[in-house]
Parts: sequence; C-alpha cells; structure tokens
Amino acid sequence: MPVSNVAREHAQAPETCDLAVVGGGIIGLAVARELIRRRPHASICLLERESEIAMHQTSHNSGVVHAGIYYPPGSLKARLCVEGARQLYEYCERRGLEHERCGKLIVATDVSELARLDELERRAAANGVAGLRGLDAAGIEEIEPHARGIAGLHSPHTGIVDFSAVARAYAHDVLQDGGTVVEGCEVTGVAVGSRAIRLIHSQGATEAGHAVFCAGAWADRLAVEAGADPDPRIVPFRGAYLRLLPERRHLVRSLIYPVPDPSLPFLGVHLTRQIGGEVLIGPTALIAGARDAYSLATVRARDVLDTLGWPGTWRMLGRRWATGVSELRYAALRSTFVRAAARYLPELRAADVEPSFAGVRAQAVGRDGNLVDDFVVSATERALHVRNAPSPAATSSLMIAGLVADEAERAFAGHRAKARTARPARGQGIS
Ligand SMILES: Cc1cc2nc3c(=O)[nH]c(=O)nc-3n(C[C@H](O)[C@H](O)[C@H](O)COP(=O)(O)OP(=O)(O)OC[C@H]3O[C@@H](n4cnc5c(N)ncnc54)[C@H](O)[C@@H]3O)c2cc1C
Repeated sequence: MPVSNVAREHAQAPETCDLAVVGGGIIGLAVARELIRRRPHASICLLERESEIAMHQTSHNSGVVHAGIYYPPGSLKARLCVEGARQLYEYCERRGLEHERCGKLIVATDVSELARLDELERRAAANGVAGLRGLDAAGIEEIEPHARGIAGLHSPHTGIVDFSAVARAYAHDVLQDGGTVVEGCEVTGVAVGSRAIRLIHSQGATEAGHAVFCAGAWADRLAVEAGADPDPRIVPFRGAYLRLLPERRHLVRSLIYPVPDPSLPFLGVHLTRQIGGEVLIGPTALIAGARDAYSLATVRARDVLDTLGWPGTWRMLGRRWATGVSELRYAALRSTFVRAAARYLPELRAADVEPSFAGVRAQAVGRDGNLVDDFVVSATERALHVRNAPSPAATSSLMIAGLVADEAERAFAGHRAKARTARPARGQGIS
C-alpha cells in the first residue's frame, strides 16, 4: 500500500517533536491530519505499533457509514455521527474513494419491537437525520424484495465505504502536509515532565511537547501509564462475521438491520453489502480472550487477567448473562446465528453462508458494570486520550478529530505559552 511504503522510507521515530499521536487507526490518523492542518509549522509524528497502519478495528468492521439514527439526542455520538457522515461522504468524493449511499432498512418482525422502532424514528428526527421514512410490510419488500417484517424504517443516506482506504487517504494527507508516520513503533511507557512528555517505544524514545493517544483496544493501558484513572477499562468484544455465498448475494440489495436492544451499544446481527459486492452477516458480540483475538485461538494472559480482574466485567456479566448465553450460541452454532438474520430474511439458510473475518471491538466498561455508550476523550498532564471510540467512530472520524483538536488547543495552550519562554533544546531530557 502506497502510504505504508512512503511512511516506511521515513520509518524512524524522531527524538523530539511538538505533537505526537499514538495509534495509526482511523482516529489517530484523522487526529494527526487535523492537528497538522491547524498547526502547519508544528512537527507532528504519529507512532503506530504494527508494521502497517489500520490493522485493527479500522480494517475489521461492517464498513457502514452510519446516518446517526440510534444515538441519544445530545450525545457526542449523535452530534458527531450526523455531521461526520456528511463530511466523510464529501471527503470520499473529493479524494475519489469508493463509497455508496446504498441506504439501510431497519426491520421490526414482532409487535413487541414497534415501540422501539418509534423511539428510533424519534431519535433520528431529534438528531437531524435526513430522509428517514417509516414503512409497512409492503414498503419493506419494495426496498428489499427478500426481507419480511411488519414495519420498518428506511434511511436513504446510510452507506458503505472501506474504512481502511479512508485511513490510508488520511495518512497521505498527514505525509503531504509534512507530518511523519512511523510504523512498527510500539509505545510501551510514558513519562510526564514539566517541559515535555516522553514516549518510550520500541525504537527508543520520543520527547514531545504534547501527545494524543488514540490506541483503540489498548487505550486504557496507555492512559493509565500517563497517569489517568483506570476507569473505564477496555473489554474486548469479538465480532465474527459470516458471508453469503456469491450465488445468494442477490438476497440483499443494501443493508438490513434488526431493531436493536436499546440497553446494548451493539446493533444486532445485520446484513451488510460491502464495497466489492460481498454480503456480510454479523457481527457476534462475545467477550474475547485477547484484544487482538481475530482467531478464537488467540488468548493472551495479560488481556484475560485485565478483563477478569476488572470489577465492571463481573457486574456487567451479572446483569447481562442472558445476552451472554445467546451470544455464545451465535458463536458456537452457525445455524442459530443464521436464524437470527432469517427472522427478517426468511429465505436465508445455513447452507447459504460461509465463515468470514472477525473484528474486536474496543468497548470501554465502567467499574459500575455499564458499557460506556458515548465517545470519551479525557486529559492528563500534556496529553489527551481517546478512551472510548466504538461504532460509529469510523463514520465520525473527521468530527472526532475536530473535537480532539479543539480540546488540544484548550488543554495545551497554557503549556505552549510557557514553552515559548522556556523551551527545551531539541533532544534535551525532560525534567
Ligand atoms: C466488528 C466491528 C464492526 C464495526 N462496524 C462499524 C461500522 O460499520 N461503522 C463505523 O463507523 N464503525 C464501526 N466500527 C467501529 C470502528 O471500526 C471503530 O470505531 C474505529 O475503527 C476506531 O478506530 P481507532 O483508530 O480508535 O482504533 P483502531 O483502528 O483499533 O486503531 C488503534 C491503533 O492504535 C495502535 N496502537 C495500540 N497500542 C499502541 C501502542 N502502544 N503504540 C503504538 N500504537 C498502538 C493499534 O495498533 C491500532 O493501529 C466497528 C467495529 C468493529 C470491531
């Protein structure tokens, strides 16, 4: 991939810089891009631990540009998703990135779901989602001829994109504007001094005026390293997908979702067409044995201990054991998984699908056992931390970057004023 090649030519982490961004997923790249646009004369470097950018959540997701339907009015998710989707489409058009406003259908199959469907319509209206339309059974079949339900909502502006392609385009922007993207550079320690923040990493150390951490599934660990509260902790939820066999892809024109359980931040087993034509079914939502558990066999002792040692995990499991059991059945039995989607796509059979990839959601869980629903950005001395950026963060990436850059201007302004009078010499140790 061209960006990685360009980045690799300049792969060494600098000894010093004005601003460092840790994490080369879509959020870190969007943040680096925004910071460098606002401060073109600052030296900005992004440190990514993997050999290439965008290897985690950014390249393992449903690829849906969400319209902003689900989120509580006034929440960051609501505000940043609606405008974020608009900006993302505009960016894709400008940059010639493949995308499609294919529309999305949410289907109720049981009367017990109608009140929740109404609530979604109310939220969408409050959030300013354009073009949403309520449907009856015939309306559902007009949009998706193979879907069945008693009522539905159609969102014409929901769409699809390849988020890793978007992330690569952001990286190009960073490089073009004079930033540095360093791959293969894992930050393992953070030391905060009065004049700089020192990032200890696999290539040595970088001393930065300030840092923004966008480390996805590892966000809590780096935040704690920098002196933040351990609450919330990231609990990894594995999301596995199946895909329709090519000869059955005609069953789905665009995106079909169930009415979600409002007490969970996940959207239920859905059917999503991808850029390139594949149709995915999923994802599941099962606590994972590692923060990179793309295979079920990947289990890491530290990750398991962090999950099980967190009081919030047990409180969450105590409240949600029934959801946990059904998710276990989805993960273990393909037929159960397929049946969940067949509720609204009755022609779907277990023989129509094959296994596809899995993603791992970096979901923050509070000490109280609540799954943190909204995006969370917090501050420590000389640093900002994106501590919870689950879906729809990829859709909202340009807006999240704007929010983080605004926060950075506020949080780092005092230090900059001091730095102008007492700036450490390049390469000088922190005090
Ligand atoms: C199954 C699934 C489906 C989803 N579907 C959608 C969807 O349809 N639409 C949508 O908008 N969102 C969706 N999301 C959410 C979306 O993918 C994420 O919100 C988004 O990718 C988060 O980006 P990120 O940059 O925060 O995290 P990541 O992409 O995980 O990036 C974090 C980066 O930090 C790096 N890093 C970590 N620790 C260190 C360290 N110590 N040193 C250096 N680098 C480090 C990692 O290697 C990684 O590259 C989905 C997520 C999942 C898992």
